[in-house]
Amino acid sequence: MSPGSLHRGLLLVLSAPSGTGKTTLAGRLVQAHPEAEFSISMTTREPRGAEREGVDYHFVDALTFQRMIERDEFVEWAEVHGNFYGSAQSVVDRVFATGGIAVFDVDVQGGRSIQRRYPEAVLVFVLPPSMAELERRLRERGTESDDAIRRRMLAARSELEQGAQVYDYLVVNDSVEQAYAELEAIVSAERCRRGRVDLATLGLEAPKHGS
Ligand code: ADP
Ligand code: 5GP
Repeated sequence: MSPGSLHRGLLLVLSAPSGTGKTTLAGRLVQAHPEAEFSISMTTREPRGAEREGVDYHFVDALTFQRMIERDEFVEWAEVHGNFYGSAQSVVDRVFATGGIAVFDVDVQGGRSIQRRYPEAVLVFVLPPSMAELERRLRERGTESDDAIRRRMLAARSELEQGAQVYDYLVVNDSVEQAYAELEAIVSAERCRRGRVDLATLGLEAPKHGS
């Protein structure tokens, strides 16, 4: 934690079936919080639509991805829809050093891996208001073929079932304003959790060695 930072680092995992709106919500959160960092995943899939290198993802080839696994540079990685995705350990190290917020946009298996490694991570699952609305958003986004949309809709159901059972918080993204307000409330409450407020900064506890 950086000197003078009141809060300890927070790992915030956002998961949802593709098309639900988690990128929209994560983007807002990072914009509103200068201390928040969006974890830009590595992926072996091709960029789609207006996606840009180093903004939406780091697009890498399979060999580069494999080397990163071997060097233990991922906090978690997984195969999703036939492509590899992974989150950099360096983001976690940075927010623990600065007291910031790391925002991960990962699938349920990724969220569970982060939680296994860091049990204090906060897992938020974003739900679509209905399956029909999810399909409508995917089509409206216009970035996938009919076939890819069918595959994603099939995967969505099992993601929803898993996420709804194991995640700490469930946020329904019907109105984006309401969903964002709920996400903000979760972050605010989690920042105030006992254990995340650094009492030494307030002069209430001797600073711990190395903090
Ligand atoms: P994800 O990251 O979960 O795949 P996106 O954030 O890319 O989802 O959102 C998918 C599409 O749905 C985008 O076109 C986005 O603008 C739209 N969208 C997001 N939230 C809402 C909402 N609450 N109501 C209607 N459309 C939404
Ligand atoms: P998309 O191809 O739509 O960007 O993402 C497909 C799925 O991969 C989404 O569920 C997304 O959350 C997940 N994903 C993106 N980055 C990562 C990552 O670093 N790790 C894991 N486990 N999943 C990821």
